[in-house]
Formats: sequence, structure tokens, C-alpha cells
Amino acid sequence: MKEWKKNIRQVLPYVPGEQPKQTDVIKLNTNENPYPPSPKVQEMCRQIDNLRLYPDPAAARLVNAIADYKGLDSSQVFVGVGSDDVLALSFLTFFNSGKPILFPDITYSFYDVWADLFRIPYETKALDEEFRIRKEDYYGENGGVIFPNPNAPTGILMPLADIRDILDHNQDVIVIVDEAYIDFGGQTAQELLKEYENLLVVQTFSKSRSLAGLRIGYAMGSPELISALHNVKYSFNSYTMNQPSILLGAASVEDDDYFRETTAKIIATREWFKDEMRKLGFTFPDSKANFLFAAHESVPAKEIFEAARAENIYVRYFPKERIDNYLRITIGTDEEMRKFVGFLKRYLHK
Ligand SMILES: *Cc1c(COP(=O)(O)O)cnc(C)c1O
Repeated sequence: MKEWKKNIRQVLPYVPGEQPKQTDVIKLNTNENPYPPSPKVQEMCRQIDNLRLYPDPAAARLVNAIADYKGLDSSQVFVGVGSDDVLALSFLTFFNSGKPILFPDITYSFYDVWADLFRIPYETKALDEEFRIRKEDYYGENGGVIFPNPNAPTGILMPLADIRDILDHNQDVIVIVDEAYIDFGGQTAQELLKEYENLLVVQTFSKSRSLAGLRIGYAMGSPELISALHNVKYSFNSYTMNQPSILLGAASVEDDDYFRETTAKIIATREWFKDEMRKLGFTFPDSKANFLFAAHESVPAKEIFEAARAENIYVRYFPKERIDNYLRITIGTDEEMRKFVGFLKRYLHK
């Protein structure tokens, strides 16, 4: 082996869901929002100007819009290039104790990738038989705690009382709640920020605001945590937030009616879809996210996944122990979901 090869960092990257090149597909595989972003975002597109200049490194316009909307001070908000960026920077900033950080065994599959990349030791804690996070598993000594709420890919929401309990048992480390799907019927942990200055709540514009393509995520936390994130960010790349993202993101936050309307539509479609899936012989945890994690009583998930794909319907399948008989199906429009149910009826001869 050439000597220099030994100095190359070996990492096993995260593998995102497929983005098919064709457009005539029903795409229910990466939890995108089926509705377009707010019309206010489209209007703002025409006003984008001054791309000649560097953007505001603090992205103040966007930070202020989020802070106003959430009833926080701008010193309590940090924005990044999608919540993936915010979470990666948070791992780098907060998980430095040398003790293992804790997260569930079945969860967002980027956590172990970042832990490996930054050489942070970690331990995973098994979900219970019904795929719930066991809060007692997070009581022991550790270097930090992170979990999504609702969890992905199960869609199960943890009650706020349990999050509080985890915080009460983890006063000496940073606890991160990844709320990528909280806007689809969950209760945010934001109100706990007043009591716990070691809590970081992370949200994204990718799912509930239909802006996966823009890449905006943010963290809410005590000014001390937010300022620590800024220091790390400014030690790496000052201009992560580009000018269009700053302006378009702010326009999205300023249109609350549209946000409420589209998230309510997805929730209604999801509840209809649950009934249909039950009638077809599927079982699933009760999802509070914009997807359903479902297993069929007799037909293996992999077969359904492949048959759907052959008809240009994309859902997500994880060939991983314990969950390899489940499909993660994003909630699309009513029409898309009717077509998917139609496919299942034909395929399962129901
Ligand atoms: C989608 C997702 C993210 C990342 O979203 P961004 O597009 O980077 O904002 C983070 N955590 C979970 C659990 C997700 O599902």
C-alpha cells in the first residue's frame, strides 16, 4: 500500500433515498412534502438580488424571522444548511467528553455516520418490542443523548413528560431532540428550553415547509449553546447560508396560513391512509410524522417494494435487522396515496 493511502480518512457514508431521474413517478421514498412551498417563496424568488456580494454570515434576516415566529430571542436560534448541517456541527461542538453518546438502535441512520466521522464513541439502545424508545435506557452515564421525535423511521412520538424525564436524568450532558417531523401533529420540546439550558431542539424546513431543495435547518437552545455552535461554524465556513436561502426561508416563515393549511392536509391524508392500510392487512406504529412505517401480514416488504418500483412507485425499504419487513411510505397528495392503495389492492389481490 502506498504510504499516503494510510492517511486517508476511511468513512462509510450515509446513503440517502433514491432520487429517480424520471418525472412520471409517484415518489414516496424520502419524506418530501408533496405540496409546493408557500407562494410567498415564489414571489420572493423574483426579488433575489445582490448575488455579487457575500451573504450575511449570521443570516440575521432568517434567524430573526424564525426567532419571531417561535417567540424566542435571536440569540437562541442557529441556522444551517439543512438540519443535517446543524446536527453534524452539534456533534462536533457538544459531544467531546470521550464517553459514549447514546441514541436508539433504530433511528436516523446519519447519527452513527457522524459519530464515526468525528470519532465520537457511541452506544445504541434497543427500541422495545413495539418500537418505542425506552427512556430508562438513557439514565446511565454518557457523553450526550440524541434522538428524533417523532422517531424515524417508526413515526412514534415520545410524550413531552418522557423527554423531561430524560433531561432530568441527563443534567451533565447536552441532549439533542431532532424534531424533523414535529409539525405533523407532535408536541415540540421548545417549552422545555426555559428550564434546561443543556437542551438543543433541532427542526428543518425540508419536510413541513416543502423546502428540501433549499437546505435550511435550525437549532433552538440557550444562548450559550447557540454561541458555541457559531464559534465552531465560523471556524469552518462563515458563509454556509446563501443569500437565496436566507430570503426564501424568511418568506416561508412569514406565511403561517399556508404552512398550517398544507401540514393539516398531510395529517388528514395520513389518517385516511392508515385506515386503508389496516384494511389491506398492514400493521404499523401510530405515526405522527409524514410517513407510515408498515409491515404486511403475509407478503414480505421487499417484494412489495420491488413490485411498486416496477410500477414507478418509490417507497423506502431498509434491509436491516428487525426492520427488514417494513416499508416506510411518505404521505403524498390524496391522489398519489389513492394510486398507491390501488396498486396494493391489485398486487395483494384484495
Ligand atoms: C430528514 C431528516 C433530517 C435532515 O433533514 P434536512 O433536510 O437536512 O434538514 C434530520 N433528521 C431526521 C430524523 C430526518 O428525517
